[in-house]
Amino acid sequence: MSPGAIVGVELRRIMLDLVTPFRTSFGEQTSRDVLLVAVTVDHDGAVTKGWGECVALSDPHYSPEFVDGAQLVLAEHLVPLARAAPLTAETFRDRVASVKGHQMAKAALEMALLDAELRHAERSFGEWLGVARTTVPSGVSVGIFDETERLLAEVADYVAAGYARIKLKIQPGWDLEQVAAVRSLVGADAALQVDANTAYTRDDIGHLCALDEFDLLLIEQPLAEDDLLGHVQLAQASRTPVCSTSRSTRCGSRSMPSSWAPAASSTSSRVASAATWRRGASTTPAPHARWPCGAVEWWRRESVVPPTSRSPRSLVSLCRATSAAPIGSGSATSSSIRS
Ligand SMILES: [Mg+2]
Repeated sequence: MSPGAIVGVELRRIMLDLVTPFRTSFGEQTSRDVLLVAVTVDHDGAVTKGWGECVALSDPHYSPEFVDGAQLVLAEHLVPLARAAPLTAETFRDRVASVKGHQMAKAALEMALLDAELRHAERSFGEWLGVARTTVPSGVSVGIFDETERLLAEVADYVAAGYARIKLKIQPGWDLEQVAAVRSLVGADAALQVDANTAYTRDDIGHLCALDEFDLLLIEQPLAEDDLLGHVQLAQASRTPVCSTSRSTRCGSRSMPSSWAPAASSTSSRVASAATWRRGASTTPAPHARWPCGAVEWWRRESVVPPTSRSPRSLVSLCRATSAAPIGSGSATSSSIRS
């Protein structure tokens, strides 16, 4: 797409209350502190505005990045670098390469640029991605509860709502019994996986192998993100594919050896964003069945969030929410950066 010049950037913070609390092995979330990025881009006199969402959470518990930090990095580093014309979403990564890390902050600005470009070109995001279908099966992530009965009731509701894949959050003390109960509820053919959010250690490898009998799609991020050797050992001991989550590898690149990472799962805006993903997916040969094609497939499924989602995280849903202020418990706040 033709390059443009950024003529305005707005950083907007909104607070969204979740419909239900979402509990994982690292804590309970009841609201989302969301940083939105709006860019105004001039394409030879034609001005369009695009929106991006930063997926960082309030505190650096789930990931090193957090909302306040992302806002600072955007305002003090990324936006100044991006101001110089010409710039496209696909060249953005190279432009900001001097800033190490901060993938979520980068992705927010890159997505806003891409949104502006696509609006200018009157193209849909799906068309740009090259998708052949307008709908895909959607999965849901189910949190941790105090009682298994409550979990089963939640899963039953999601299955009735049409979700095609169930992902259960697990942690020590909330794993085998609950997975067995859900497998019994949903049946042998249902797509079922678990996500531990780093709740286990190498000492638990034998325990985690007991999940094999439930025929899971995968186990996501069982060990610490930087424990690559531990993941290798688990992958060798277990029949269940071990899934590296969003940040523990350079997803989208060729740096992941297929021998120790049978699967990868990611949300685009946590590792690279759409333009980089699209570039990587089109150039990286698939070393085996699930990588990288499987990862891209997962990403696409995760990215298509149905309107009934209980945890609104998609760009589209948040932009709709923004236009219907006031949002949640507080009013939107914003700061503008003009070049
Ligand atoms: Mg995860």
